[in-house]
Amino acid sequence: MLPISFEFYPPKTDEQREQLDRSVRKLKAYAPEFMSVTFGAGGSTLSHTPETVQHLRGSHGMVGVPHLTCVGGSREEIRHLLKLYRALGCNRIVALRGDLPSGMARSGDLRYANELVALIRQEHDDYFHIEVAAYPETHPQAEHAQADLRHFKLKVDAGASSAITQYFYNTDAYFRFVDDVRALGMDIPIIPGIMPIANFNQLRRFSEACGAEIPRWIVQRLRALGDDAEAIRDFAADVVAQLCERLIAGGAPGLHFYTLNLAKPTQAILQRLG
Ligand code: FAD
Repeated sequence: MLPISFEFYPPKTDEQREQLDRSVRKLKAYAPEFMSVTFGAGGSTLSHTPETVQHLRGSHGMVGVPHLTCVGGSREEIRHLLKLYRALGCNRIVALRGDLPSGMARSGDLRYANELVALIRQEHDDYFHIEVAAYPETHPQAEHAQADLRHFKLKVDAGASSAITQYFYNTDAYFRFVDDVRALGMDIPIIPGIMPIANFNQLRRFSEACGAEIPRWIVQRLRALGDDAEAIRDFAADVVAQLCERLIAGGAPGLHFYTLNLAKPTQAILQRLG
């Protein structure tokens, strides 16, 4: 069976905690390889990420995997978190630069994710399986695609074990990216990040910020469906399930779902994939 994984954000309120628990209970049924928990750059979810990872591991028996961002943090803070995660039994981590919340001036000791990967490898050898981020449609701050690819290679050379991509709705971008990575001699698995389409306006905002393209035909079809929530849900699940089918047929080594802490949109896709 193809490995799948689910990503959650750390809840901050009781209501959000209950929602996370409901979603985790439903998504557990798909036997994910791991469930990861995002981390707010600059420390905005500092205390909530370890707590949520511990909760996934202790209360749900899942392989909880923390994300760790370096921008805005000091080396000491990063070292402290790595120690804490080892103590919690985590041997897998998603290592990122992160984006500072607007208005936050703190720049931190490390500038780019490759420096974080290097620090983890220097201080913890091969203890952690390190996932890094990849951008089939190019990171929005990169000068151009080739520069972004060179920067991606810095993370692999520093010791990344595998990569999870930013979400995309265009499989050509993913397959071309994998070809380019292989042509540069990198052989780590590149796992597609899958974003279910649940709330279109929210997705449009995310996509503008992270540089992911929503194809015009999808936007037009969603517009045509107006307020028909059921038709929108069916169309969105069909589109993303077909994307996953093409990725699997083309040799993708796994699928990582950005759940936004909701089970239903991801379940609808997985049900279609059988
Ligand atoms: P980097 O790999 O450091 O790249 C950032 C930019 O700098 C790119 O444009 C790159 O081309 C350029 N660059 C890289 N290295 C160099 C260098 N040495 N010299 C010059 N330029 C360089 N954000 C969060 O805040 N919390 C999360 O939990 C989180 N989880 C994520 C999970 C996944 C799977 C993905 C794909 C993204 C996630 N993000 C998260 C978003 C991510 O932090 C942002 O996309 C961020 O802008 C870049 O992070 P990165 O690790 O890719 O950075």
